[in-house]
Amino acid sequence: MSQPATLTTGPRAPAGVAARATELTKVYGEGETRVVALDSVSVEFGRGRFTAIMGPSGSGKSTLMHCMAGLDAVSAGSARIGDTELSGLDDRRLTRLRRERIGFVFQAFNLMPTLNALENITLPLDIAGRTPNQEWLDLIVRTVGLSGRLRHRPSQLSGGQQQRVAVARALASRPEIIFADEPTGNLDSRSGAEILGFLRDSVRELGQTVVMVTHDPVAASYADRAVFLADGQLTDELPAPTPETVLDRMRHFDTTVRTD
Ligand code: ADP
Ligand code: MG
Repeated sequence: MSQPATLTTGPRAPAGVAARATELTKVYGEGETRVVALDSVSVEFGRGRFTAIMGPSGSGKSTLMHCMAGLDAVSAGSARIGDTELSGLDDRRLTRLRRERIGFVFQAFNLMPTLNALENITLPLDIAGRTPNQEWLDLIVRTVGLSGRLRHRPSQLSGGQQQRVAVARALASRPEIIFADEPTGNLDSRSGAEILGFLRDSVRELGQTVVMVTHDPVAASYADRAVFLADGQLTDELPAPTPETVLDRMRHFDTTVRTD
């Protein structure tokens, strides 16, 4: 079934919560190798909003994203997409939820080398047996500036162009929420800025919901809100982050830790 390509524009983002963690705890290993990657984290990700998850390396950012997206099981507490509690789902239902309701963008673009750009973009829909909505597809291809590159294979594209394909792929099914883990980590700063601009446009102009993991204050400044993790705990949050206010929070936290 294809959906109409109605756009939600401007600040009238649809109200509500797209995803929610409640006292989410994730423990890896046991005994001497036991690591508490997330320690009772509660956070909501607003619908139609662009949220950045910030924090130093090892603070639990990827773990939080993986638990929220049904890629990893929680040890305690709850992870919800919309009203769906993920811990209640078996593997088959989790796979379907990821396919139908979530879009992913990873640091390593994860494209299929044998497929061209357009085939990569529509692959998740093809797997799900869904017909792409042509109007929507044209719009996202135009938005990410790939119109002249659709027949190119990933090896014939620059890193920035490959990540644009990955963003278009994440948007193709109009998912309820897109999770991006360090999406600019492998890109030069100009290509990175382009990708961040597309993610922001997909929220502002297309009404999408994006949650992005990053440790880069400049990347976080593209978001509407930044939440901060440290040692597996949610420590802080910042509305309308700028590179300066984010850096300031990070410095403040460093000082707090040092004087502890
Ligand atoms: P970040 O994305 O913020 O760099 P991660 O979420 O990847 O941090 O990791 C948080 C903590 O959990 C780290 O101490 C890391 O070593 C640990 N961790 C992450 N994944 C695993 C795993 N699969 N097995 C064991 N420990 C893990
Ligand atoms: Mg990570």
